[in-house]
Amino acid sequence: MDRYKLPPHSHVDLSERDPRDRRGFEGRKREGRRVLREMSYELGTLQELLYAEGKHKLLIILQAMDTGGKDGTIRHVFRSVNPQGVKVASFKVPTLKELSHDYLWRVHQQTPGKGEIAIFNRSHYEDVLVVRVHELVPEGVWQRRYQHINDFERLLADEGTTILKFFLHISKEEQKDRLQSRLDEPEKRWKFDMGDLRDRERWDDYMEAYEDVLSKTSTEWAPWYVVPADRKWYRNLVVGSVLISTLESLDMAYPVWTGGDPGAIVID
Ligand code: ADP
Repeated sequence: MDRYKLPPHSHVDLSERDPRDRRGFEGRKREGRRVLREMSYELGTLQELLYAEGKHKLLIILQAMDTGGKDGTIRHVFRSVNPQGVKVASFKVPTLKELSHDYLWRVHQQTPGKGEIAIFNRSHYEDVLVVRVHELVPEGVWQRRYQHINDFERLLADEGTTILKFFLHISKEEQKDRLQSRLDEPEKRWKFDMGDLRDRERWDDYMEAYEDVLSKTSTEWAPWYVVPADRKWYRNLVVGSVLISTLESLDMAYPVWTGGDPGAIVID
């Protein structure tokens, strides 16, 4: 799945990337779902190892347009992971207190500690996305943030955090269908937000803002993956397999037993 990883300094044109791509799994949806089930167990085992070893920190950043599938990705990919070792941080419209600090203040507090996985549902990238598109700060302010963000992520990486960033790429047509089903299905209606339509009207501006994010902030220490996300099962497969291969590459081990011969210990 490394084909979806962006090398540093890539020039990204999202219109050239197919959100319906399912390379390697054409006509194999059932097989894809089976592989994902196996992967989720594997991920559970790797997470336990990460926790037991207590050495590495993993930060996963999820960004997408509305209905892009951030929640579904978290629900499906992490279904077999022990909730005690994972925390999800959702970044909403900043509170007054958050706004009184710099934009990375609220983010830094949610980064993972040793042995932890933190999943960001939205992130500091909102500060160069919604903030740019809706002109919440002047251009000179958001323009310099790409550099801040690269430096911030570098700091985290230097201090032992592995960072993976996923842009869940859906098409405008797919978003229309998903918004419509939120209106049509009573149990999904609570998810419908008029603000989503406001953002949909600015689709092209968002794509431009995302292209800049992806082009300027995919680094060796914090790469972006552009995940084809119109097909939910394939999206989950891509995210799951990147997570597994990244965790495997950490070369983790259970802590060495230092208690002598375990057979000699008598439990009353
Ligand atoms: P989600 O869509 O992620 O499920 P919400 O419907 O509560 O959650 O949306 C969160 C909203 O908060 C989004 O519209 C997002 O653009 C907005 N938001 C997040 N961070 C910021 C920010 N730094 N400045 C302004 N708006 C933000």
